[in-house]
This record gives sequence, C-alpha cells and structure tokens, in this order.
Amino acid sequence: MAKSSSSYVCQSCENSHAKWQGQCNGCGAWNTLVEQVIEKSSGKGLPGRKKLKVGNTLVKLSEVDSVEGFKKRISTKIGEFDRVLGSSTMSNEDNISNHGIVPGAVMLIGGEPGIGKSTILTQLVVNLAASNDTGNILYVSGEESPSQIGLRIGRILDKEQDKSKRFGKDSLRNIKEKTVFVTSTDVDEVCKIISKEKPYLVIVDSIQTLSTDDLAGAAGSPGQIREAADRITTTVKQLNIPTFLVGHVTKEGGIAGPKILEHIVDAVLELSGDRTGDLRILRAIKNRFGATDEVGVFKIDEFGLQEVSNPSQVFLEHLDMSVPGSSTICVMEGTRPLLVEVQALVLKSQLAMPRRVGRGVELSRIQVLSAILEKHCGLPLGFTDLFLSIAGGIKVKEPSIDLGLAVAMASSLKNKSLPQKTIFIGEVGLLGEVRNVSYLDRRIKEAKRLGYSKVISRKTHKRVKDVLNEFKLL
Ligand SMILES: [Zn+2]
Repeated sequence: MAKSSSSYVCQSCENSHAKWQGQCNGCGAWNTLVEQVIEKSSGKGLPGRKKLKVGNTLVKLSEVDSVEGFKKRISTKIGEFDRVLGSSTMSNEDNISNHGIVPGAVMLIGGEPGIGKSTILTQLVVNLAASNDTGNILYVSGEESPSQIGLRIGRILDKEQDKSKRFGKDSLRNIKEKTVFVTSTDVDEVCKIISKEKPYLVIVDSIQTLSTDDLAGAAGSPGQIREAADRITTTVKQLNIPTFLVGHVTKEGGIAGPKILEHIVDAVLELSGDRTGDLRILRAIKNRFGATDEVGVFKIDEFGLQEVSNPSQVFLEHLDMSVPGSSTICVMEGTRPLLVEVQALVLKSQLAMPRRVGRGVELSRIQVLSAILEKHCGLPLGFTDLFLSIAGGIKVKEPSIDLGLAVAMASSLKNKSLPQKTIFIGEVGLLGEVRNVSYLDRRIKEAKRLGYSKVISRKTHKRVKDVLNEFKLL
C-alpha cells in the first residue's frame, strides 16, 4: 500500500493507482507502475510529478557564454574521461584541453557491478582534491564504509607515487582534508548536508541505496530511485555543484531501472567491458553538454583504471601473425579512428539451417554480406556456419567494416591468410561494389601511423570481387 502522500502512476498512460499492481487499469500495460510523491497544492489537474522551476527563459546569443554547458569546464585530469564528457567547442577534436565536467551537471555513470565505476570515480576524487583550487568533495556511500574507500584511495596514491611522484606534500594533505564521506542512505538527509556544506563536487555511490520516507517502496525500487535522483538533482542544480550518480545495471540491462533516470540527469555514461578481461570502455549514451559518440579506453589493474591513449595498439595486441579468417579494419569511435581486428570462422554446416553468429557485429550484416559474397563472388556460403567477431569486445555498427568482414570470411573459407599490415576500409553494396565511407582520410592516416602500408578501399578497388581476386581468395 502506498503512503498517503504517494501513489502508483503508470509510466505509459499516467493513470494513478492507490496500490501497486502488475497491470495498469488504464492502458493494460504490465509492470509500468512506479510509486510517486503526490504534490499537495498542485491545484488543478491530476496529481503528478513536481513541475520544474524555469529560471532565465530568455537568453540572447551574446549572453550564451554564461549559460550552462558553455561555462568553463573542470578537467578530471584523466584524459580519456574528459574526452567522453565532451567540450563546448567543436573546433579541434584532437585537442581535449577544454573537455571535462560542466559545473552543475548531474552525470549518471552506469555499468555492471564490479566493472570499476567506484574505482574511476575514486581516481577522479583524488585528482580533484589534490589541487589547491578545489573545495571539499562529498562522497556519499551507502555501500562501502569510509575505511573501504580510504583503502582504495591509498592504493591509487601508492601507484601514483610509484609512477610519477605526482602528488607533493600539499597535495596529499589536500586529499586527506578535502575528501569527506557521508554514510547515509536517507536522500533528504544527504540533500540537507549538500545544502549546508556546499561542496565542490558530489559523488553518490550508488543511487540505488538512497531512499526517502515519503515513499513506501524499498530503496532500489524504481519510484525510490527516481525520487532520490530528482531530489539530489534539484539540490545540486540550485548550488551549481557537479554531481556523479553511480547506477548499477539491472538484470534487464537498463541503468538503475527502466531508463527512469535518463530524463532527470544531464549525461548518462556507461562503463563496459569484459569483466574477465582488462579492457574497459567508457562511453556517453546521453550528453546534454557534448557529443555522445566519444569513447574512453582504459585498462584495469590492481591500482585502478589506467588510460589507454593509443587504443589501436591494444586492440591489435594479439595480432602478431596472420591466420586465415583474420583481417584488420578501421572504425571511428566518435572522432577517433581505431584499428581493430575482425575474425571469421567459416565451416561446413551440419545443420539444415546453417548458423550465423556475430559478436560485436549485427546479425543482419552477416546475412547480407554472405549473400553478396555468394551472388557476386561465387563463394558457396549457403551451407556453411558463419561466426564473426570483433576483437576487444567492442560493438561496431558502421558499414565501413563490411569489406574487412567479407575478406575475413573469404579468407577463412579458403583457409588462406591475408598479408600482414593490410587494412580494409569500405562499405559493400548489394551489387557487390565497394563504397566510400566517411572520414576515409583520417582512417588512412591512423593506419599509416601504425605501419599499415597497404590500405584497401574504394580508392584502390571498385568491386569486392576485385579485392578477393587480388588476395587469391576466389
Ligand atoms: Zn497505463
């Protein structure tokens, strides 16, 4: 039963219910009811969510510099992190000096438990607290005790001192004095503390642990998560304090419940990677203050997440010999070209319906490419199982990978490896033609930089058949 001050509202039709039930009375949808606080003096209309306060509605272009998003950004001093947070200017994509946190922005960082969300935020705390120009940093933790977080900070500091002696005596004192822990799970108490202390930065780890007495649901229920995020956001926005909310990915794969938080926060960052591997990828799914296609690449070790500023090398690390079925492609992750290995395994199928399996590659792409190879190049792929995978655990959707995938499939089928230091960049059309891709020059530049002397693209070959011919794969 909901509290007298709350009700369960359907997320698709806004029908309100006195108690929770599986199906909405209004629209018949299942599992759409979320507990919400009823505003008492809203006057007219249905009891609904609080209206957002509108501040300065009219802004001249000449005043835009001072508007949110264009203010001076705070660098996290982690280049790959700054890159994902984005910048206000579009000028130079290679220059990330003006990238970073927008004052007052609320950022949700999501990912599976244990992937490294708390670790990277702890590194951020250390970096920012060390400086003389920053204020206190409030670390709200409902999951870990201050001593646990203290241990993690100690580990990161040990590593930094071993590596570079980056932190002097003053910095170490700053870190100790300015990192303030809050071990409350009551969101209203946390908001009060934020209003009183006015910290430089707030970290809430995690939003799932916070709850308010105004709702009957347990901490971590969709209603509580949303209300907690809403209250924190309202508080920090008034004070212009940048805030990170940690959200664990739920069983269904959404960050902190079914996309509840996306509308409340300014940016949604996702930390992903193979938990058994050491590579971690940070990307922005939503970013009010920057592009959403930038990617940060990290390697995790016992001390924390270390930046990988030359990711192509990591993705190609294991590519030390040519094996049939392997080819190299160049994908764009945001504005950055990335060289990646693709692998294909093609073998005679024992099944009536041959298997097509892709890891990091869309299934439809495999189907179309195998049909093109069969029709225009005469490769008998109709009765073979096809397995395609992109190394390093990244997912690629852009069509520029077509040519590399097609060549890898032919290479596996013919059991013939491709020459080393050759890269394939191109979309493959339904008529078997090699098509141009965006940013071709930038991709070629990156390939050449890493010693790839031979670049196969629309510039060198017009048809995919010609490419296979050149490498004797027909
Ligand atoms: Zn409904």
